[in-house]
Amino acid sequence: MDHLTPSSINTYENCGVKFYYNYIEGRPAPATIPMIVGSAVHKGIEYDLTNVIRKNEHVDINQLLDVVSHHYDDRLIEIEEGDKLKGKDNAIKMIKLWYNHFKNNYSNIKEVEKKISIEMVGIPKIRGRIDIVEEGTITDIKTGFTHKTIEDANSSTQLTIYSLAYLAEYGKLPNLQFDSITINSIQRIPTYRNADSLKATIKYIQQIWEAIQKGIFIPTYPDNPMCSKQNCEYWNICQYAKRKV
Ligand code: SF4
Repeated sequence: MDHLTPSSINTYENCGVKFYYNYIEGRPAPATIPMIVGSAVHKGIEYDLTNVIRKNEHVDINQLLDVVSHHYDDRLIEIEEGDKLKGKDNAIKMIKLWYNHFKNNYSNIKEVEKKISIEMVGIPKIRGRIDIVEEGTITDIKTGFTHKTIEDANSSTQLTIYSLAYLAEYGKLPNLQFDSITINSIQRIPTYRNADSLKATIKYIQQIWEAIQKGIFIPTYPDNPMCSKQNCEYWNICQYAKRKV
């Protein structure tokens, strides 16, 4: 592996075996409808806020719905099963919620989908993208059936990595937040990082990398709801799935 990403680190945190299948064996998990819904909503938000940066105005809602709808349709080819129409409906509901309630909740937007690349001692580069960078604040958009929690925000390695990238570029720590979107509501979940949490996370990522180098890929705990036929793409090939009867 020549680089890590917040997503690959997150996969290792959740299940070392899943990381092994995806990033070492090179068997990426097939796309799912919730994944494509999230991608379409992100595309819509990027489209609207790019217009705000360039022209200082939001796009028309119908134009935005077209962008989300086309992006969703374009990616459907990656999907083999699931309720495709319902997925599209969900993406439209989510982007409408964001547009109606949150589109004006950002100020001094510097960049959307900002590419980052972080270098740290003892590990390969970490590359990723930050959804929204404002003056002093980083926002990560989350979509799903349930909302993210404050505990999720406080413990997110992804947000800590974004803090490190912001600190390297602007010389100060940003405020952090999840804008969490379900089909029924949208919530902002703020958090922050301090110097101690950054140092501890750097050490933690170095330990993860050391474990990867040593070939240590520990399966998640058996009663993790994600370790199930419905929620794990590797269920049929994973020897640890057989821990359950
Ligand atoms: S089945 Fe369970 S242990 Fe195996 S890869 Fe999936 S989550 Fe990990």
